[in-house]
Amino acid sequence: MKNGQFSVKAAYKFLKGRDDHLQSNTSINNQDVQVWNKLWKIKTIPRHTHLAWRMLHNRLPVKECLVKRGVDFIPLCSFCDQHRETLDHLFMYCEWSRSYWFCSQLGISHQNFGSDSCNFIPWLEKVLMHEDAETTRLVLSLCYVLWNVRNKRCFEGLELPDPVTCANQANKNVIIFNQSNALNLQQQILPIPSPQSNIRWTLPPAGWYELNVDAAGPTPDGVWGLAAVIRDADGVIAAASCCQKQLFPNSDIAELMALKHGLKFARDMIFLNLIAEADSLNAIESITVKKINSPYRGHCC
Ligand SMILES: [Zn+2]
Repeated sequence: MKNGQFSVKAAYKFLKGRDDHLQSNTSINNQDVQVWNKLWKIKTIPRHTHLAWRMLHNRLPVKECLVKRGVDFIPLCSFCDQHRETLDHLFMYCEWSRSYWFCSQLGISHQNFGSDSCNFIPWLEKVLMHEDAETTRLVLSLCYVLWNVRNKRCFEGLELPDPVTCANQANKNVIIFNQSNALNLQQQILPIPSPQSNIRWTLPPAGWYELNVDAAGPTPDGVWGLAAVIRDADGVIAAASCCQKQLFPNSDIAELMALKHGLKFARDMIFLNLIAEADSLNAIESITVKKINSPYRGHCC
């Protein structure tokens, strides 16, 4: 954004520049780069790609990770409540997860994952590098549904659902994607590596995410830019999204639409433990004290 004017091109250049800078200052394994490049080239549902991106960067807040970050609790598995909730246990070794993978269209048994000492991330990397697009799409969808089930159980206390139903849902997601002209419907989501930036927002507590939203505009032809950034407790950007919309009557409405866009994005990306921030006092007060008196009604996305 420059002088309050939102520009996708400028945002991309900013992020790309920071990406190049980071890559030149860190010793990133060449194989990792190949896997990440492969991941971002897969045509699939963006939130599935984003989840895999977080897994590959060890940014998924399974309970064992939270303990390592200083959260004081017993990190028992959200599914079985018997073993420590590591990423490997949750995604590969838990009894529910084993049934889930086996019930999927891929019929993945424990042997398919490899030996008992096999880890999930190397297995996922192998899928990304060597399997065809359709198989990879389904594996990413299965990961997404599994993580969604885990979060619903963890944060909403829901009973564990039938693994067959969940595996079918993951398959259905891929079928719907394939049947639709999905590429044209995707939000533009920028692949963001793990930068540390100058943060002027307050960091959320460990295990929480912070959503910051903003709106800029309008251009002479009435276009507004809406942007949302989600950061984790270390201040690392976990996901970002932006879109353009037309004809908001004023900046307060645009800010509210940015907040709606951000919340919808966060929900789709399964960031359920979320703190939202916006920099428009009018917009925030309109939610809490219904200050804005506007006849405007509409949808953001
Ligand atoms: Zn378990």
